Amino acid sequence: MERTLSIIKPDAVSKNVIGKIIQRFEDAGLKVVGLKMLHLNKDVAKGFYKEHNERAFFADLIKFMTSNPVVVQVLEGESAVRLNRQLMGDTDPQTAAEGTIRSDFAKSIDANAVHGSDSLESAAREIEYFFDKSEIFS
Ligand code: ADP
Ligand code: MG
Repeated sequence: MERTLSIIKPDAVSKNVIGKIIQRFEDAGLKVVGLKMLHLNKDVAKGFYKEHNERAFFADLIKFMTSNPVVVQVLEGESAVRLNRQLMGDTDPQTAAEGTIRSDFAKSIDANAVHGSDSLESAAREIEYFFDKSEIFS
């Protein structure tokens, strides 16, 4: 059993598809064991994406992630990290496989509907970044 962090990004929240995206996780056997809606400020967004702070797109990424509220979730299940990445699809919605969340709900590589932890180590850091232990229920 693993846990991973998922974020429904500002573009998807604005498009009113929170429920449709969470349905994908539940249908695939992942359980939502923590969930909150937040409007990230710049410092929180920068800390979350610190591994990307040298990248050319970093400033735009922070602007985007702070542009509207997000929904942050802890997903639990067998191989949760890999399964969530599969459900999400490639970073670029244009190359994401058909039927994936990014293919179905996003149009561009910067506004790509969801975040998902890329390893168990990232998942542990990212879950702790947004959730107190008392806010996770399994
Ligand atoms: P992923 O979200 O698939 O793990 P990365 O960790 O590489 O992808 O990038 C983090 C986020 O930064 C992406 O989800 C996307 O929102 C943004 N991003 C990545 N690459 C680019 C790019 N070339 N141009 C604009 N934004 C990007
Ligand atoms: Mg990533």
